[in-house]
Amino acid sequence: MRSAAAIRQKRINLACGYALGGYLCVTAAWLAILVIPGLALFCLIGAVVAGFVGTLRALLLGVRFLLIPVTTLIYAPLSFISSLDIALGLGLLYSAATAAPLYLLFKNHFAKRPPPWLCQDCGYPLLGLDRPLCPECGRPFDPGRVPKIIPANATGKST
Ligand SMILES: [Zn+2]
Repeated sequence: MRSAAAIRQKRINLACGYALGGYLCVTAAWLAILVIPGLALFCLIGAVVAGFVGTLRALLLGVRFLLIPVTTLIYAPLSFISSLDIALGLGLLYSAATAAPLYLLFKNHFAKRPPPWLCQDCGYPLLGLDRPLCPECGRPFDPGRVPKIIPANATGKST
């Protein structure tokens, strides 16, 4: 069982990944035009795929996630059917215009895995448990990765 929050974060991370993938493919495409034009086609195919899948994934998440994959999906085929000069210009424009939105997307929405003392699925703190199972979602965890803490009232003193 996985919490809705954990599932949503994974979807968001995937959407960020596709946005980054599209960005890298378009950037690689115009760099390839400068160096090895024959490679640009493969980069643009990658960009179309990343843009298409990224757009589908972002549809579930909202407008801020749609911006980059939709832009990728428009720019990549446009570059493909243009002359090399125009494709280079479009690519430069794309990479310059979407760098900041891409950075903000990751900064504001991408989340790494939780620290080891939190449940990796639901984020429940796993401190001071007797059994290596998350009480919230039932996921097993490695007790060696969770620091042992002694409860404050375990010293035996009472007043
Ligand atoms: Zn859990």
